[in-house]
Amino acid sequence: MGQKLYFDNYTAAGDILVIAICFVIGILVATSYNTRTKTFKLFLNMIIYLGLAALSDMILHDYYAHMAGGSYTPIYVIRVIYHAMLFSLFLVYVVYLVVILNLDRRDVVPIMSVATGVYAIIILTDIILTVSGKGFRIGDDGTASYGPNVFMAGYIAFVSLIVFVILKYRDKLYRKSVLGLFGTMAVSFFILYNQGRHGQAAFTVATFLFPVLAIMYLLHSNPYNVETGTISASALKDAVRYHYEKKLEFYFMSMYLPDFHAEAKELPEEIKAEIRRFPSAHFRKSVLFEISNGHLLLMVPKKGNPRCEESIRKILEAFEVDYEKYRFDYKIVMGKSIDDISRRNEYLSLIRNIMRHMPVNTLHEITDEDVKAFDRSEDILVQLEDIYRKEDLNDERVLVYCQPVLNIKTGKYDTAEALMRLKLPELGMIFPDQFIPLAEDMGFIHVLTKIILHKTCDAVKDLLAEGYEVKRISVNATMSDLRDEAFAKELSDIIEESYIPNSKIAIEVTESQSDRDFNDLKEMIDKLKGIGIKFYLDDFGTGYSNMERIMNLPFDIIKFDRSLVIASQSDKRSEEIVGKLAGMFAELHYSVLYEGVEDEEDEKRCINMHASYLQGYKYSKPIPIEDLKNFFSKSAVSQ
Ligand code: C2E
Ligand code: CA
Ligand code: CA
Repeated sequence: MGQKLYFDNYTAAGDILVIAICFVIGILVATSYNTRTKTFKLFLNMIIYLGLAALSDMILHDYYAHMAGGSYTPIYVIRVIYHAMLFSLFLVYVVYLVVILNLDRRDVVPIMSVATGVYAIIILTDIILTVSGKGFRIGDDGTASYGPNVFMAGYIAFVSLIVFVILKYRDKLYRKSVLGLFGTMAVSFFILYNQGRHGQAAFTVATFLFPVLAIMYLLHSNPYNVETGTISASALKDAVRYHYEKKLEFYFMSMYLPDFHAEAKELPEEIKAEIRRFPSAHFRKSVLFEISNGHLLLMVPKKGNPRCEESIRKILEAFEVDYEKYRFDYKIVMGKSIDDISRRNEYLSLIRNIMRHMPVNTLHEITDEDVKAFDRSEDILVQLEDIYRKEDLNDERVLVYCQPVLNIKTGKYDTAEALMRLKLPELGMIFPDQFIPLAEDMGFIHVLTKIILHKTCDAVKDLLAEGYEVKRISVNATMSDLRDEAFAKELSDIIEESYIPNSKIAIEVTESQSDRDFNDLKEMIDKLKGIGIKFYLDDFGTGYSNMERIMNLPFDIIKFDRSLVIASQSDKRSEEIVGKLAGMFAELHYSVLYEGVEDEEDEKRCINMHASYLQGYKYSKPIPIEDLKNFFSKSAVSQ
């Protein structure tokens, strides 16, 4: 009677709940965005096995309860199916782990052998014991008796394997996810233990539910931004992979708003509403990703959206209206899926590469040329990374070119600007526009600055040794160099090593918009000026200059950008404005240097506009630093 009681001690509540939850998950999956990754499909498989296990468990007990004599065979069959469903779930769970852990073949084979081995043995034993009458059996009086507890043996084997795998490869998982998986398993054991204590059987399937829910919550929740309906960037890679594997073409449009990016500002409400509404109003199955603050990417499958390009135009028109209203800066990049980029899953790098070179408030459609340029910049990046890693100040790939500067007062060339070039194997000569922004973005610029400083110092040493008059050579530094407190010491060490006076090296910097930079820059300039290094303000007249800030930084020389030289050419009034500006600097004891002096006319105008120094193609293009010999004069003593 005892045995019968156990088998009887079942209510359908647990299984009904499990089936209901499986349906709820099904509904949620159907109504939310999920990238159809391999792991997600495995997860769906688990849900199906779970539902079927609960269903077969229910049918099994229902049949037993309402059975009035007759054959027991259906009970035996359903019971084996029930067990098979639960163990299939276990098996898929193991496969799931193996996939997310991204294990080598070498590690996968033993794990999967154990899992499939246990699976086969358990199911076969269950069938054999049942058929032979040595296992689960219902006697003539209707009471159930059990043979060896095959189910528990299999359960323990699988749980041990799963715990082992998670523990062994825990370093490959985010620590909190490991805790999440184990935490939910602990709840399952607690239920199983208590159900055993009370001779209950209603919650066996439910104990399988928790670890599966853990997977859903930990690994497949693609958080929406509820306000805009955007999906986090991590899902983009999965989406690209899915489209590539299924050979599905798509369009994409990237919108970058630098203001919101830099300051992590919230988008205005109306814009959010538009972002929420537009994609679903115009496209079927489009997905909007939020790459980072102020950077959105819309992905639209080609299939089902025959009038996609037209709709994108409409979005852009609406955007124009918003732009007129809010006037925030933007960069828009759009294009069609490109096989090679999909395969490498590199859309974001491609887009960033294009954005690096495009002016704000423009739209760019991706061309084959862009992809070629991107591939080239990827090759350059490999080299940059290598230069950065080796940190060899004599690295032969980095060349110092120089542009001599005419000193108006003496009529001689005695200063110059150092300009970097790269000479890379297979790629040849690379100009700054192709590697400086890239190196800045990737954090490699600092090593390049040190290399060019070192090489410039060495060259100055040689020029001085040969008796050339070198007043100083200016080297370009970026804000990230100057933000680094170690820079002052590094710079003076580099100069010291070549035994030249500190005053032979100057630093050029461009104006920065941020207050934090202002303070850092001021500190750095003060420190370096203290040891005799002069400072140039580069590219004056290009950005929005903040005069108050400039006046508070102790620059020695203001470099008027070529755009001002060009502007002053247009009419008398413009010439007067630029001249007045230069005059004001001169009065305050700054020297004014005009950049981009290309012909005699430019030269004449600049001299009239308070120039102290002139630089430009009229005098020389950038030349290898040794060739400065052709411009600089030898001092009287050594002649
Ligand atoms: P920049 O500092 O404004 O350098 C002046 C640029 O104007 C140089 O281009 C130079 O070749 C060019 N130029 C000179 N004379 C004329 C002229 O008469 N007309 C015209 N249209 N252009 C002229 P380059 O060498 O391609 O350098 C471009 C930019 O790359 C530089 O602009 C600077 O911002 C950056 N750069 C170059 N070398 C370095 C470096 O060693 N470190 C860092 N951080 N940036 C560098
Ligand atoms: Ca410069
Ligand atoms: Ca400049």
